[in-house]
Order: sequence, then structure tokens, then C-alpha cells
Amino acid sequence: MDPVLPASVEADLAAAAALLMQGRLVGLPTETVYGLAADARNPDAVQAIFALKQRPADHPLIVHIGTLEELQAWAAEVPPAALALARAFWPGPLTMVLPARPDVPRVVTGGLDTVALRMPAHPVALALLRRLGRGLAAPSANRHLRVSPTTAAHVREEFGDALPLVLDGGACTVGIESTIVDLSTGTPRVLRPGAISAAQIADCLQRAVDLRPAAGTRAPGLMKRHYSPRARVECAAPAALADRVAAHLAAGLRTAQLSAAPPAQPHPSLVWLAAGDTPDARMQRLYGLLREADALGVEVVVAELPEGGGPAEALRDRLLRAAGQGSVPTD
Ligand code: AMP
Ligand code: MG
Repeated sequence: MDPVLPASVEADLAAAAALLMQGRLVGLPTETVYGLAADARNPDAVQAIFALKQRPADHPLIVHIGTLEELQAWAAEVPPAALALARAFWPGPLTMVLPARPDVPRVVTGGLDTVALRMPAHPVALALLRRLGRGLAAPSANRHLRVSPTTAAHVREEFGDALPLVLDGGACTVGIESTIVDLSTGTPRVLRPGAISAAQIADCLQRAVDLRPAAGTRAPGLMKRHYSPRARVECAAPAALADRVAAHLAAGLRTAQLSAAPPAQPHPSLVWLAAGDTPDARMQRLYGLLREADALGVEVVVAELPEGGGPAEALRDRLLRAAGQGSVPTD
């Protein structure tokens, strides 16, 4: 059963559906980050996403769907592993890469013969998708390489009047982009870590999951620098944090410390960005805090790298990319 939505949301959904059917773009809340949505079957509408984001044309978009049955409309093959993962984690923050049907517009897939699919859990996104009965291409609603938006206000900051409508679904509960798992080759591979860990995927499939793209595979969009604020970001292990902060303050820089615990020593040029106490809280807050650093005119953010597996892996991935130190090189 779909959740009952307030009447005002129903009116917004009707307006969003009408705009999307006309080939316009709409800001869409999902549980991961806000998306910039277009009808995935309309090549001109999808093209408008690339233009507004200033995103290179070979970076494929994720197609969001509202029902399991729609998998067949996009994927040429739905292997048992895909069904098992969909049953376990959808709706939710997991994207699957599958062989694309020949009729999938190649503007959506960045020219690839594979397509990335996700069923989001946010009630507003799900209600819109089910009302439309069509797939929506919806990358994060930010300009290329910038920090992803996690509130409707962030989306308006990015695009202002260029977007006719931003649906407001509150703050994203997950806060970072979905886990992407490639099921289009023999071995499942995590192309991008997220809130659903490689270990959870391996558990569900009862088989090993690789953590990186196969050698020679194109991994478009997985760039060393991504998700960056204007401020410089530097990552530090917990033990090195205080020294790095002290060094930047000594150099006269307006500095932010992004960490679970407050700085040991206050300083007039130092702000504390309270990262959160649990990995989930840290994911949820991360992008809002990076935006706050920019709003405060901070020059350098020293970010504490969380230790451990699971969600900490996804956090390290995003922090290292914000610092321009991602482990997968630019393609
Ligand atoms: P986002 O920027 O959150 O919309 O995520 C899109 C990312 O998903 C791309 O930059 C790619 O890394 C990945 N992706 C989407 N489609 C594919 C595909 N067919 N094959 C491999 N990766 C894909
Ligand atoms: Mg993005």
C-alpha cells in the first residue's frame, strides 16, 4: 500500500507529473539526495538535465522506477541476483547496473549498453513514480562536481528559477548517494559505496562481491574529485586531526574541523562542524555541513576520516573525493 500523503503534497505531485510529461525538469526528494528528474524515455528532457547540471554527456544517469515489474521495461535481462537484491533492498538506496534493452535511450546510459536502476524509498518519490508509471532519470540536483543537495532549499540554491518546481520532502534521511552494484558481468561489483554495504550485498547473494570495477571497465562519473565545496577539504585520521587543524590556524587560515568530538582548543578562526556520533548520522549530515562551511567563508575543512567497515567505507569515499583524493581516477 502506498502511504497516504497530505492534500498539499497531492497537488504538488499532480503539478510535477504534468511538468514531467511535458518534458520539463523537477526537483525530487529521495532518501539519498535530492534529484533533478526528467522523463527517462524523453531524450530532449534527459538532454536538459545534462545542460542544466553542466554534466559531461558520457556520465550515465540512474533511472528510478516505482515497481518491480518496470525492471523488464529497462533491463534486457533480469538475473536472479538482481531480483534477490531488489526484494531485499528496494525500495531503498541501492542501484543495480544491468544490460539495457535496445530501446533504452542511449542519452540516459551515456552511450553504454547497460542501464542503472533504482527504486527509491522516499514516499514522495515513490508516489510520483507510481502515478507516472514511467522511469525518471534523476541525478543529484547540483551542478557537476559540486556537493549534492539534501534539502529542497539546497536545490533552489543550486538552480534558482531555472527549475519550475522543487518538491519539498524534508531533509534526506540517508544523505549520500546510493550504493551502485554492477550485475552486468559475471561477478557482482560495487562501483560506488553507499549506505548498503558490500557485506550486506554479499550476504544477500551468498557470494563474494568485488569492491572495484574490473580492470579496463569504464566507471564513468567515479572521479577523484567530486562532491566538493568551495573550501579546500583535507582528510585526517583521528590521531592526526588536532595537528592538522593547528597547522592551518598557524598559517592564518579560517578553518573548520569536521569531527565527532569538538576541538580541544577554541580559536577565533576555528569553527566546529559536528559530524555526528554514528555512521548513519554522519552520512545524513555530511553534505549540509560542507555547504555550511562555504556559507561561513571557511578556507579549509579538516575532516576526520571515520575508521571501520560498512557505512564508514562510504563516508571515507565521499570525504576523500571532496578532498580530490578519490581512489578511482578520472576517466
Ligand atoms: P548520480 O550521479 O548519483 O546520478 O549517479 C550516476 C552514476 O551512476 C554515474 O556517474 C555512474 O558512476 C553510475 N552509473 C550509471 N549508469 C551506469 C552504467 N550503465 N554503468 C556503470 N555505471 C553507471
Ligand atoms: Mg551527483
